[in-house]
Amino acid sequence: MNVEQVKAWLHGYQQRLSEVHELLDELDNRIGDGDHGTNMLRGFQVACAQMTEAATPSEAVHKLAMGLLSTVGGASGPLYATAFLRMSQTWREMEEVSLKDLSDGLNAALAGIQQRGSANVGDKTMVDVWAPSVECMLSDPTEHGLLEASRVARQAALNTRQLVARRGRASYLGDRSVGTCDPGSVSSAILFECLAITLVE
Ligand code: ADP
Ligand code: MG
Ligand code: MG
Repeated sequence: MNVEQVKAWLHGYQQRLSEVHELLDELDNRIGDGDHGTNMLRGFQVACAQMTEAATPSEAVHKLAMGLLSTVGGASGPLYATAFLRMSQTWREMEEVSLKDLSDGLNAALAGIQQRGSANVGDKTMVDVWAPSVECMLSDPTEHGLLEASRVARQAALNTRQLVARRGRASYLGDRSVGTCDPGSVSSAILFECLAITLVE
């Protein structure tokens, strides 16, 4: 993945967010404060624009992270920003990122999300999508593995529906959080889907 492909991935994601932000707000409305789609769309609109001048994959995701930090107030802003900062650190000095490097970067991103938010698998957060998808990429860092990771991400996001939230705003609802998919899991699954769409020929 070269810098242009990183930009294509994230611009593609911004485009998808403009299509699904109302759905993400609606999910968040049921178990949170109804702003996840709005937060993500505004954040990526601003952050993607700041990425234009980047010359390497590392620089692109670093600029994106800084943009997210300065625009997204909700819990998801610092979490996604941390994820992209960790990718940036993993890819330092690289002109191009191989699928193995990509997997390592996503794994570092997951570790960052967990350090920052202290969520584990099963807590009904974006970690429920990142963990199995990263595992999939690490065990098979090929185009096939990436497609599989995207499929796994989608299924994992749907599976959060039956979970009780233990982190973030939705945790205030306790058992009443069951029956709605976690909005951050859905936005994360779309991020993995956009990655596969960009990189798999
Ligand atoms: P806020 O809850 O501050 O309004 P958003 O609505 O933008 O922020 O984001 C909510 C999403 O953030 C949740 O759906 C969940 O996936 C994710 N999230 C919240 N807290 C955590 C956490 N501690 N660890 C991981 N992800 C979290
Ligand atoms: Mg919210
Ligand atoms: Mg909020």
